[in-house]
Amino acid sequence: MKLPLKTVTSRIDQRRDCLPWDSRFISLRGIVTMRIARDVAFAAILWMSFAGLCSAATAGATPKAIFVILDGIPADVIERVSTPTIDAIASQGGYTRAVTGGPVGQPGETPTVSAPGYMSLVTGTWANKHNVYDNYDLSPNYDYWNLFRLVKHERPALRIGIFSTWIDNRTVLLGEGKSEAGGFLFDHVIDGLELDTARFPTQPMDRQIALVDWAIADEGAAVIAQEAPDLSWFYLQYTDEIGHEYGDGPEFDQAVMDMDARLEKIWAAVSARQQAYNEDWLVVVTTDHGRDGETGREHEGHTERERTIWIACNSQRLSSRFKDIPEIVDIYPSIARHMGITIPEAIASQLDGRSFID
Ligand SMILES: [Zn+2]
Repeated sequence: MKLPLKTVTSRIDQRRDCLPWDSRFISLRGIVTMRIARDVAFAAILWMSFAGLCSAATAGATPKAIFVILDGIPADVIERVSTPTIDAIASQGGYTRAVTGGPVGQPGETPTVSAPGYMSLVTGTWANKHNVYDNYDLSPNYDYWNLFRLVKHERPALRIGIFSTWIDNRTVLLGEGKSEAGGFLFDHVIDGLELDTARFPTQPMDRQIALVDWAIADEGAAVIAQEAPDLSWFYLQYTDEIGHEYGDGPEFDQAVMDMDARLEKIWAAVSARQQAYNEDWLVVVTTDHGRDGETGREHEGHTERERTIWIACNSQRLSSRFKDIPEIVDIYPSIARHMGITIPEAIASQLDGRSFID
């Protein structure tokens, strides 16, 4: 998603703030939503039937949380292609469509662009607060505490991890180590591989980014399995690269299936921890924006397909908010709730989201 500046600049000419409403997409959405709802309901029944056999955490289990951003996958695509890992996660909790982009026409309106989306998730606020409107020339407003700063402030003994194909997530958006961002430090870091041209030399179509995604998933999953950080962020990027190159089509569908295979590494590590330890793992998988309805190559504006995202979550404590089209800013208070962290009023009063976990 963080494109070389020359590429980003060339795309400015293709800026599209508004796309025509695509009725074909809307009708398709109705069909696939029904299919997903039916599948999820069936899976929920299955889960309830076998709940006694599952390795559900027992009382007093240590809460742990992971959120995963798979870049730029529209909801209609994640619902149409085969994603067995997402299905497995949702079968324990739920799957829902969700929204990003903030309230249109109001101060919180936020471009459906990658870094603003990540920042909305990690701060629980829209861009008029976190001040990230694009992928470059970043000047985040650290007054709105991100989730990692919150956790380290409230529970200094907890360990935090980041496993990311874009190093700026840690060094810029979260402001790790910066005094103005609270000076907190990660305990587990795997990132910056996209800058390691010796290990990942540049390839046509930026295919080295797909390999970096694999390394992040593999190596991050190993950290989860062995070290079990209390809160972790996985960020995987290649779907957005393919989306910009090809738009909608078989190449994009394959990239989504590859993402699901990477996610399986992470999910397997979580499942192994749940089997072996008295830990209560929350896994939230989402995307940062949709794509335009005409070609699927672009995103930035506020058409329904660009604003529509999705969330898959394994929590068995999902509230009615989860079914009521939650927003990307809801993930922050949901993770805090799962971890049993009471958000100080000065922070809570500024949040634009509300928990979808009871
Ligand atoms: Zn993105």
